[in-house]
Amino acid sequence: APAAPAMAEAAMAARVPPDEDGDECLPEYRHLLSPDLLAGQVAFITGGGSGIGFRIAEIFMRHGCRTVIASRNLQRVAEASKKLVAATGQQCLPLSMDVRQPQTIVAAVDEALKEFKRIDILINGAAGNFLCPASALSFNAFKTVIDIDTMGTFNTSKVLYEKYFRDHGGVIVNITATLSYRGQALQVHAGAAKAAIDAMTRHLAVEWGPSNIRVNSLAPGPISGTEGFRRLGGKFAQQSNQFSVIPLQRAGNKTEIAHSTLYLASPLSSYVTGTTLVVDGGSWLTSPNSFSALLGIASSSAK
Ligand code: NAP
Repeated sequence: APAAPAMAEAAMAARVPPDEDGDECLPEYRHLLSPDLLAGQVAFITGGGSGIGFRIAEIFMRHGCRTVIASRNLQRVAEASKKLVAATGQQCLPLSMDVRQPQTIVAAVDEALKEFKRIDILINGAAGNFLCPASALSFNAFKTVIDIDTMGTFNTSKVLYEKYFRDHGGVIVNITATLSYRGQALQVHAGAAKAAIDAMTRHLAVEWGPSNIRVNSLAPGPISGTEGFRRLGGKFAQQSNQFSVIPLQRAGNKTEIAHSTLYLASPLSSYVTGTTLVVDGGSWLTSPNSFSALLGIASSSAK
């Protein structure tokens, strides 16, 4: 029999669902919840062609959901869709749209409704981010992040509301961040943009609750195998052992974010609205917020 520490380690490992680093589907998947949790439903996922959004699409499809994955780069979502369909056997419609341009969202939602006749879930995952001190941030850079994250979330939510949710109900999950909770250095643009989305979550939950629409935010911590992780110095944090200050002692993975998103999108959370679910291993409570350390990462990661 294995020694006690090895057993404890194995048991602990078993509680962390496996993940794949790149934008690839999981080679195998063990269901923790009923495989038909989302059967018959359709999810519209912005940013679904990469990173966290890609894994959310996969996990939803593994629970019986059909998906629409939408972002600017059609080739990216088309390739992602092929992988998702091959791994799950569910339908996935890739569409090109820019969350900053409402008419492109309208066209994409029209096409999705033509194909599937319904949309039950909206995941607002599209975003842009980079490390930059406020002193070096251009007016335009700040505006661009607000445009994609905050305006993009409002634009997409409003189109879905008008085209389908107002008459049929629905669920919205906004992917935000914990950056503003302690004023994260080099992140005034993304922190402000995501804080505004968390506010929007509460406003829309109040106004749209009577139409049977639930609206929640999910705020991930550092998530490995993502563009966000690469750009925001995740590798550096890993090497310099910075994850040891996180209560759960590690970065999270995309499967873990997808599982928490599945909870918020499914009837498991039928009485949950207007809230933010923080999925960060306790990170924001304890992680350092060092201006100079982050400046070092920013200059070493700038190519
Ligand atoms: P990612 O792979 O870069 O995902 C961002 C997605 O947004 C891309 O698929 C991109 O596709 C799409 N997008 C960007 N601008 C768009 C636009 N104007 N219109 C439509 N789509 C657009 O990044 P990720 O790290 O997985 O992040 C996913 C979400 O999690 C983001 O909301 C991010 O802020 C949040 N988050 C991530 C972490 C992390 O550790 N990774 C931590 C906290 C929060 P196109 O280029 O094809 O448009």
